[in-house]
Amino acid sequence: MSMVVTGAAGFLGSALVRALLARGGTVVGIDRRPQVPRPGLLTLTADLLDGDRAVEAALASAAAVVHLAARPGVRDRGPYVAALQRRDNVAATARVLARVPLDVPLVVASSSSVYGGATGGRPSSESDPMHPRGGYARSKVEVEQLCRRRLDAGGLVAVARPFTVVGEGQRPDMALSRWLTAAVAGRPLRVFGSLSRTRDLTDVRDVARVLIALADRGSVGTVNVGTGTGHTLQDMVAAVAAAVGTDVQVALEPAADDEVPDSLADINRVRRLVGFVPHTELPAVVARQFAAAGPRTRLTEHPRVLAAR
Ligand code: NAD
Repeated sequence: MSMVVTGAAGFLGSALVRALLARGGTVVGIDRRPQVPRPGLLTLTADLLDGDRAVEAALASAAAVVHLAARPGVRDRGPYVAALQRRDNVAATARVLARVPLDVPLVVASSSSVYGGATGGRPSSESDPMHPRGGYARSKVEVEQLCRRRLDAGGLVAVARPFTVVGEGQRPDMALSRWLTAAVAGRPLRVFGSLSRTRDLTDVRDVARVLIALADRGSVGTVNVGTGTGHTLQDMVAAVAAAVGTDVQVALEPAADDEVPDSLADINRVRRLVGFVPHTELPAVVARQFAAAGPRTRLTEHPRVLAAR
């Protein structure tokens, strides 16, 4: 029996697959996008909602399942986004919940966005009321409600709420990715709101460690996956400049309503459940992210960066 990872071609999914394979054993990765082939990884390329036989069989016979597949991104806009968020976040989770037997550990990715931000420097705790801003956050609230039903039926399910994840493979729509690309191209870094806004940033390697620990232990309930430390956008910009090795300009733009001013995790429950708390060394993780993106995107060959070296 294998550990099954949905969304295995994605940012968190590929980091989780790498971490699972590194400790031995076999992994089944499910994604509608192609995955990087690796020894010990069985890749299934299919949409979770297509009723693919191999996918359904993998979910039904897994030792544990980590469900990461989704349409993420609070800044996702466009005519059909709401429908796609319902499909890939809510309907796909319902399908996974229906296929994985109740006694099999299941970890489902929600998001810190369900809190709608931390106010007054107070960390968000799992028992706080949810204040989702925008369609993505609302779809994750629905995901959590579906998980609650499994719990009420006596099933195993842990709902993980990651706080802004950083590191190698970060999605191109996320701030650090966008800023690294802009810095290399010599363009101003677009910053929404103000440089004093803060984010609890979580190293993708620690996210993988927490997800594995939750699955291994068959943990139940909701848990923040964050560090308990906020980083200002100013610090993030400085880390980008240091990683790329160039001066950067910032272009401040008004923040949309679904862009929370600050985020901060209460980390008591994650410590209790898995025995450690994620920790992020911002300059080091941004340097890692840049190093991983460089060869892939040929970012480092930009004349401005070469000139700055
Ligand atoms: P990602 O977009 O990089 O990965 C998601 C993967 O899921 C993609 O490869 C996509 O092809 C796949 N997918 C989506 N719908 C599918 C479907 N119906 N069938 C098959 N495959 C499907 O996203 P990510 O950043 O790795 O996020 C992973 C999870 O963590 C998501 O649930 C996201 O909401 C959550 N999360 C991420 C962050 C973050 O900072 N990245 C923060 C909080 C929560």
